[in-house]
Amino acid sequence: MTSLAHTRADFPALNQNVGAHPLVYLDNAATSQKPRAVIDAISRYYERDNSNVHRGLHALSMRSTDGYEAARKRTAQFINAADPAEIIFTRGTTESVNLVAQSWGAANLRAGDVILLTEMEHHSNLVPWQQIAQRTGATLRYVPVAGENAQHGLDLDALDKLLTPEVKLFAFTHISNTLGVINPVAELCARAKKVGALTLVDAAQSIGHEPLDVRALDCDFLAFSGHKMCGPTGIGVLYGRRALLDAMPPWQGGGGMITSVEYFNTTYKPSPERYEAGTPDVSGAIGLHAAMDYLDAIGRPLIAGHDNSLAAQARAALAELPGIRILGPEQNSKRGGLVSFAFNEVHAHDVVTFADQDGVALRGGHHCNQPLMRKLGLSSTTRASFYIYNTPEEIDALIKSLHKILKFFG
Ligand code: PLP
Repeated sequence: MTSLAHTRADFPALNQNVGAHPLVYLDNAATSQKPRAVIDAISRYYERDNSNVHRGLHALSMRSTDGYEAARKRTAQFINAADPAEIIFTRGTTESVNLVAQSWGAANLRAGDVILLTEMEHHSNLVPWQQIAQRTGATLRYVPVAGENAQHGLDLDALDKLLTPEVKLFAFTHISNTLGVINPVAELCARAKKVGALTLVDAAQSIGHEPLDVRALDCDFLAFSGHKMCGPTGIGVLYGRRALLDAMPPWQGGGGMITSVEYFNTTYKPSPERYEAGTPDVSGAIGLHAAMDYLDAIGRPLIAGHDNSLAAQARAALAELPGIRILGPEQNSKRGGLVSFAFNEVHAHDVVTFADQDGVALRGGHHCNQPLMRKLGLSSTTRASFYIYNTPEEIDALIKSLHKILKFFG
């Protein structure tokens, strides 16, 4: 494994004790820590350039606008979109999915249509589709998650039966935030295209960990959040094909998205402005730009290998513990940088609370995957998730803490 331990010094929040112990931050699937470069970019913006965008002709407003639009261009380059107009800034993955559901969905779905999802979707790629299905009369179908023996991958044999011409959109996650499963995005997009269905990829768990190329994947929409990839909270992205975005109706109305307003009628700008009503999160976009530069300076292929090796180390060590059930693939190449597990005798909330006393930050609960949890017969799991700055020694600290917990409850 390539050591990326030198990056730890870039993250001020890592340099602290929790109680008597150095912080071991293994809650990266929830949100990552932020490097100094991102914190400084945001501070610099507020110290020097702060102004509203797109509406002013003075120096600060022009600098703010330039910074905001440069972030859009950088985002297009980061995911290899053909055109910066295909990048819409949102509050995060959740808002990006809601935008597509409420704009494209409301305009295009009707009774008889089907929205295809998978059983491993995060609530943010499930609830918006339920809501729009209820409004339009469309129905939902789910690609099953295969059983424990099949390592919780998607049941791709079932896909042929599910992916019928009634399916208008197939929305699925790239990496499951609970199982760690990596889904074959390009294959799923190609199969959807054959029946004329659009595709939406939830890239929340993959964007910060590996290179993503929307043209190679051939997806129609892709959603992600800045805060899981070293960027600030409150900023996210919806990528959409230009032709689709130009044909969709706006979903929110307000300033910045119009060409002309009369008392009883409004005409709208094309994408991306059409979908960005009101003052946007300028500092967020600038912070996101800095995060993308930071990740690419390290190298996303390197990050992917590093995170995957840590997950493999953790999985192997966890498998030695008594009374444990580990979710997701055994095979490293099929797993992203997280491992989720449940003990027969200790509730996940107890595990997380006790691990915190050793300075180890984990996450316990349903991880916004309630239907999946029910299907797996679980109420909660504990999740350890890894990123650039984590080290093999931190996994040793996790395992040591879990041994203590098991002894206490055993
Ligand atoms: N999708 C997946 C797979 C996630 O893991 C998350 C967050 O945990 C989301 C969507 C929602 O992201 P956000 O809360 O940033 O909108």
